[in-house]
Amino acid sequence: MTRLIVAMVMAFAAQAASAQCSLDIEVGDTLKFSESELSVSSDCESVTLNLTHTGGMPKNTMGHNWVLAATGDVNALANAGLAAGLDANYVPAGDARVLAATDIIGGGESASVTFSLENMTPGGDYTFFCSFPGHWAVMKGAFKIV
Ligand code: ZN
Repeated sequence: MTRLIVAMVMAFAAQAASAQCSLDIEVGDTLKFSESELSVSSDCESVTLNLTHTGGMPKNTMGHNWVLAATGDVNALANAGLAAGLDANYVPAGDARVLAATDIIGGGESASVTFSLENMTPGGDYTFFCSFPGHWAVMKGAFKIV
């Protein structure tokens, strides 16, 4: 009996953890993410972020991406992304400050990124933002590992 209860609790825990390891967020033709805060469980072996652009404007004028970094790195990283340009999705290649990033997408498109939490600290101060020029100052939110 005890064994059965333990198995049930473990199955429930695994289900709860997997639910928190996949995140969906939407953007449109404005400088706004559908969520101002995202949180994941520190138990997640990996996290998948799905970004959907529900607007109609092309990526060269209203492109968006989802970039994750330590909050203290966001300003410098956004400036480095600006220099990298659209072909590089406004993300500097091989930059260790980038914890995760999707491609830049336009209206009607979607993109996903799967990343590990192993280089991140539960309770740490992380921010997700869009690195399209001019967007990151307002288009960002808190990313929490709980
Ligand atoms: Zn944007």
